[in-house]
Amino acid sequence: MDLGISGKRALVCASSKGLGRGCAEALAAEGVHLVMNARGSDALEKAAADIRAAHGVDVVTVAADITTEDGRAKVLAASGAVDILVNNAGGPPPGMWTDWNRDDFIAALDANMLTPIALIKALVPGMMERGWGRVVNITSQSVKSPIPVLGLSNSARAGLTGYVAGTSRQVAGKGVVINNLLPGIHDTDRATSLDGGVAKAEGISMDAARTKRQATIPAGRYGTAQEFGAACAFLCSQHAGFIVGQNLLLDGGAVNATL
Ligand code: NAP
Repeated sequence: MDLGISGKRALVCASSKGLGRGCAEALAAEGVHLVMNARGSDALEKAAADIRAAHGVDVVTVAADITTEDGRAKVLAASGAVDILVNNAGGPPPGMWTDWNRDDFIAALDANMLTPIALIKALVPGMMERGWGRVVNITSQSVKSPIPVLGLSNSARAGLTGYVAGTSRQVAGKGVVINNLLPGIHDTDRATSLDGGVAKAEGISMDAARTKRQATIPAGRYGTAQEFGAACAFLCSQHAGFIVGQNLLLDGGAVNATL
């Protein structure tokens, strides 16, 4: 299927690895020019070079922490007018509900709620003026089904989801659609790090931690960044113009719910 977005320009935040990288790669495969971002420049430059070589698109890189005001200013200055925004950043640390103080919550809200909102506010007005735009926010399955050790994520991402539900309906009339992608367990560094936490807490091997987690997923495996990227590219496509304010769960069936 031709997604109809060749020649468009996308900002994909936090995209040197993992799910952000999967989104960048899938958009580039459709002929979308990219602005890629991550904090570490080595992996970012390597990812950008691989994508340029594989897909022949322009790729601008900005090494910056997207969760800081300075970082966002750098990224926005390099981005200029973009047609597509993919919001992403690292997830908050795990812990117990009794662990977190006000500063922990402010950090999580900054990274996983207020950063995507700031980028939406900066870039969506231009999309509306031009009459076309796509925003995809990478959130989490924790929005549908809370993950006990990720209370900071459960909270901050629920806040973003509420904002998107209202805002998406105010901008859809100008050709801009905003949706959320909710990853379940995907095979990325983040998943390895969470498996490491379980292995340590339970005194089991990494393999055992992974096997245990895979058993909770009806598909019987972790998702891949490629599969995730393909769903993102579809939500950024010409065909997604009537999909507004939705939350698409990509979890191999892990959340046991009818709707
Ligand atoms: P990952 O494999 O650890 O990759 C994270 C990427 O984001 C890297 O490129 C990293 O590069 C970049 N990054 C992290 N913090 C950043 C920041 N402050 N500013 C700019 N770039 C930043 O993580 P992932 O698995 O793709 O996860 C992406 C998001 O999905 C996270 O919010 C995660 O919590 C959420 N999620 C993931 C899963 C899963 O199973 N993988 C499930 C549910 C939700 P640098 O470190 O160099 O900055």
